Amino acid sequence: MFAQVIVDIAHSQVDKIFEYSCPDNLPVGSRVKVPFGGRFAGGRYVGENIIDGFVIGISEQSTFPPEKVKPIKAVFEEAPALVPECFSLMERISSRYRVPKAAALRLFVPSEMRLGKVREAYKKFVKLKDSTVPISKAAKKQRAVLDLLQTVEECEYTSLCNDFGAAAVNALAEKGAIEVEKRQIKRSPLNAEIAEEQPKTLTYAQGNAIDGIENSDKTVHLIHGVTGSGKTEIYLNLIARAISRGKTAIFLVPEISLTPQMLSQLRARFKGEAAILHSGLSAGERFDEWWRLRSGEAKIAIGARSAIFAPLENLGVIIIDEEHDSSYISETAPRYSTIDMAKLRAQYNGCKLVLGSATPSVESYGRAVEGKFNLITLTERINKKPLPEIIIADMRSEVRRGNNTAFSLALREELAKTLANGNQAIIFLNRRGYSQTVICRDCGYVAKCENCDVSLTYHSEENCLKCHYCGARYKMLTACPDCGGVHVRYGGTGTQRVVADLKALFPEAKLIRMDNDTVSGKDGHYKILHKFAQKQADILVGTQMIAKGHDFPAVTLVGILDADMSLHFSDYRSGERTFQLITQVSGRSGRAGEAGKVVLQTYCPENYILRYAVNYDYTGFFDNEMRVRKATLFPPYSLICRIMVTSENDALALETLKAVYFAAEELKNQQPTEFIFLNRMHSPVKKIQKKHRYQVLMRLKSYALLEKIYDIAVKNTSANCLVYVEENPANLS
Ligand code: ADP
Ligand code: ZN
Repeated sequence: MFAQVIVDIAHSQVDKIFEYSCPDNLPVGSRVKVPFGGRFAGGRYVGENIIDGFVIGISEQSTFPPEKVKPIKAVFEEAPALVPECFSLMERISSRYRVPKAAALRLFVPSEMRLGKVREAYKKFVKLKDSTVPISKAAKKQRAVLDLLQTVEECEYTSLCNDFGAAAVNALAEKGAIEVEKRQIKRSPLNAEIAEEQPKTLTYAQGNAIDGIENSDKTVHLIHGVTGSGKTEIYLNLIARAISRGKTAIFLVPEISLTPQMLSQLRARFKGEAAILHSGLSAGERFDEWWRLRSGEAKIAIGARSAIFAPLENLGVIIIDEEHDSSYISETAPRYSTIDMAKLRAQYNGCKLVLGSATPSVESYGRAVEGKFNLITLTERINKKPLPEIIIADMRSEVRRGNNTAFSLALREELAKTLANGNQAIIFLNRRGYSQTVICRDCGYVAKCENCDVSLTYHSEENCLKCHYCGARYKMLTACPDCGGVHVRYGGTGTQRVVADLKALFPEAKLIRMDNDTVSGKDGHYKILHKFAQKQADILVGTQMIAKGHDFPAVTLVGILDADMSLHFSDYRSGERTFQLITQVSGRSGRAGEAGKVVLQTYCPENYILRYAVNYDYTGFFDNEMRVRKATLFPPYSLICRIMVTSENDALALETLKAVYFAAEELKNQQPTEFIFLNRMHSPVKKIQKKHRYQVLMRLKSYALLEKIYDIAVKNTSANCLVYVEENPANLS
């Protein structure tokens, strides 16, 4: 038999199918080791080069003379790692995003498995075999082992050896008194106590939503439900229904929403049928969870973006919670959209794709309004609990009144009330570090990173400056390197400043802080959120990380500092992002028990985005936003394309940029009406990790030229200069 193999090298020059002879029973989808070219030392051939590959087909005949075909060297796992659906997705991904087939296939295999860093874990277990085997009186340890094994069914070999000595255990095994068995063990993250949890009785609105989805013949469904409207229960119900029909399910959430509460709820509901793939797991745990899905033992894959490639067959439903979240766009090649991937999988499996959010992206909501997606609307919270009242605090008047703290009078008063009532509060801040930039007040000098050309951030805990793009650290300045002035200051409010102000205002309150600086380690943010959920703190202060999905029943107050910050970013989505952020953060308040409140602090209270957010007017916001986008020709009324050119060699990058730009200009000359904008420039961040960054930025009327734009990128990429395309990039830095 012959195997068609894709070698695991993501390079266009080897992006073909190679043939090897293989054993008769080799399943399609297996990962194998194959000889590929030769190894050379000092210009001389020193033997075969062996690399990994994926078997994508098996045939009886070879297309080459059989004597020229080399045999496969080894097979990794007994069971094929790839599900058959991979191959059709591989074709779509590699042609849509112009990546080699190997790069597309890599998405389907956990990286720790590909790199050979983890394998199955085995342990040895010992059982009593024959209690009639004679043991000499002197062998007290052997006797003790046998006595123990009379009382328990089996023991772990290593712990038995630790307690009684390996000599005794091995001697018993040799005599045939005990039996040692090696078994694969699963490193499951589910070993914590699992509470029983009964499904809730659905409300009328929830039941209606589920019927609306099941009875519609559309593939994609969008649930627009206010925060606290019970969307999670709808998802869990849809998953349970799919499982009861003998199918499988994928449930995606932004990584940050995989909170301890969410995880324990899912475990309680689905037990061992659910496998959880998230970055808080060890490589071994992820590996075992992945194989539980592949083997069919687990039927529900739960995780962030990459779990869309979970190795499940026979999908019954795919759910994407918080569908507007920017983490669903991959920022490394292939730069896929998770929703697009989910659509492909839903079509392949003939199942439904359910998107949910309190603040859908205008793109998704637009599709729903056009009738391409089935729209389900939930306008009320569970138990008709009111949405929290949002109070606007005008910070300009606070400054005028001489208030220099980060807290308005309104927020201070509400905090005092909340604490007095024994409730919890969340203070949300859109930044990290004590402050942002370090600036010389005399000459305007700003401290920047030598590698990355971005402003450095001051971190008071370590009294140093850090680059958030490459992590480089610098000493804090005492004088300006440009003018020698000593008025070097850091300005603006950061989490630490807020914490310091809070401590001064409410010395009794217990604070807990969560941002990229305090969260570290495998389950850092789970621990912090868990502590807060257990009411071990009164106030949680944090950045974007605390905005999403959390359900803390005792939180009755949310303070939003610098609510307008995100309005000033130079991004066409800044209005949308601000609306989403305010709605999501506000949604953490008053979810159970008492009614909630939100204090929104801003320097521009008259801004229309804030007005819509304060009134929870999503459709008002949407209509207005679409009008603006249409008038200014921004997505979804256009396509923003950025061709990035990056290289350590500045001259090469510039030369390549020129070639890329000319090619784009030629397209423009051919079809001038397609182009709204075309230019080339330095990227806003001129250097990241020693690589110079340039870009050709264009805005196009439609997707018609997209393929030709990818052509340009593929053609101009060289060994030392990477050229790639970003579609509607979430971040233009
Ligand atoms: P969303 O995801 O829409 O923000 P959640 O799913 O977190 O809302 O639900 C909000 C709260 O309502 C949760 O505490 C949840 O346990 C509760 N809840 C949801 N559905 C029901 C129901 N049918 N009966 C009672 N409580 C419910
Ligand atoms: Zn840097």
